[in-house]
Amino acid sequence: MTTRHIPADLPDHIQHYIGGRFVDSIDGDTFDVLDPVTNETYLRAAAGKASDIDLAVAAAREAFVNGPWPRMLPRERARILHRIADIVESRDARLAELESFDSGLPITQALGQARRAAENFRFFADLIVAQADDAFKVPGRQMNYVNRKPIGVAGLITPWNTPFMLESWKLGPALATGNTVVLKPAEFTPLSASLWAGIFEEAGLPEGVFNLVNGLGEEAGDALVKHPDVPLISFTGESRTGQIIFANAAPFLKGLSMELGGKSPAIVFADADLEAAIDATIFGVFSLNGERCTAGSRILVERPVYDEFVERYAEQAKRVVVGDPQDPTTEVGALVHPEHYEKVMGYVEIGKGEGRLVAGGGRPEGFPTGNYVAPTVFADVPKDARIFQEEIFGPVVAITPFDTEEEALELANGVRYGLAAYVWTNDLKRSHNFAQAIEAGMVWLNSNNVRDLRTPFGGVKASGLGHEGGYRSIDFYTDQQAVHITLGKVHNPSFGKN
Ligand code: NAD
Repeated sequence: MTTRHIPADLPDHIQHYIGGRFVDSIDGDTFDVLDPVTNETYLRAAAGKASDIDLAVAAAREAFVNGPWPRMLPRERARILHRIADIVESRDARLAELESFDSGLPITQALGQARRAAENFRFFADLIVAQADDAFKVPGRQMNYVNRKPIGVAGLITPWNTPFMLESWKLGPALATGNTVVLKPAEFTPLSASLWAGIFEEAGLPEGVFNLVNGLGEEAGDALVKHPDVPLISFTGESRTGQIIFANAAPFLKGLSMELGGKSPAIVFADADLEAAIDATIFGVFSLNGERCTAGSRILVERPVYDEFVERYAEQAKRVVVGDPQDPTTEVGALVHPEHYEKVMGYVEIGKGEGRLVAGGGRPEGFPTGNYVAPTVFADVPKDARIFQEEIFGPVVAITPFDTEEEALELANGVRYGLAAYVWTNDLKRSHNFAQAIEAGMVWLNSNNVRDLRTPFGGVKASGLGHEGGYRSIDFYTDQQAVHITLGKVHNPSFGKN
């Protein structure tokens, strides 16, 4: 057995970052953070409560009302955002090492996510400089134009899958548009989030613009959602949590962006390039340990190629390399936390009574401890099975046959979620018509999940409300004020003159 790589200089204590200073919780409380390979506590993080959120919101509010950030020219903010991207890029290996250690993500995939985080800052830095707003003219009569303004303190609540990258996805546009923020990262994985403060300070972000409060969702997250001075909440996480946040934010009429769960289908027609479809659908559900919102966790395969697909898919799935997250040859690492491991293993057991197990089905050989799950494939899964309907969020996939295009569509749409869909066919007309009919916020045709940052990102049905991505993120984080000007004679209805 090779010795395990442990990152150097791991902290054993993580604090909040409020108004430019690292601080503990007011009540001194902490929570344990586990290493997913040993499930031992390797650090304690400050457990924020409502009083800590109050301080963070006050600091963010002060920076918004009296600080320079909202009033800086887009170009000036963009320079700082590019510096942030430069720093993230220059530290990608260290970021990946820490992210992989904390979350169990394979190191090569964590490296890709770190680079994507830098790209998110670069993208929004460029976008805000290029931003133009609408003007509408009625010659000689009226002109109308739009003033775009930052809204205030944005509350950002993020999940534990690809934490650093998902935080950058919200931080990039929230900051680019001139808002100030309070970030509440997921309690399973606070390590990489703690690095933002140093990166932002080094890049020259003014004090109080970025604030971070660690803590449990029901405490710190809840207090952020219910804080009257936080007009915006951008949330990514489970659909169930999204419902709670929606209800809690309702009395305040907050702006909400909800990126929620998924149970996305990959539909493979008999005319598809089978090898490419198998590669993409293996990657689609087993990358990021299957802890991926857009995972293609249901594969629908047209009957004439069904048996061949299942056989080849199962053989390839058995060869997917499970290993230590820090090992560069690892393709599937350890799941984030023992609670999540129990949930995924519970579904593996349920699946054994619902479908035909053709690969995996439990702990992989040679891994007696840690949150390891063998890539698991169930075939012949019926539509009403729980493993067909419910988000598992692990390396587990359900394969189901279909006979007609209508049946494929009914199966694809027959769940409560609607985040992504992947269609494999060489029939041009069918691919576009099928994409149009699928209830999903995003569709990939003959492709795995490769996303252009300009495109809308978001789900339908239980997968989310609102869209982020490109200009839609700018819209979410800004108010658009319409200004109307009369150019000619004013046509006033004259009330009360007679
Ligand atoms: P989660 O809903 O349990 O937690 C997400 C965040 O919400 C955490 O920071 C948590 O502390 C906080 N939270 C929990 N309860 C809260 C409450 N009552 N009030 C305020 N905040 C609260 O989700 P998770 O398990 O961390 O993440 C996995 C889920 O995220 C999956 O369902 C996955 O599909 C989804 N996800 C969606 C996208 C997307 O873009 N659609 C992307 C990544 C992950």
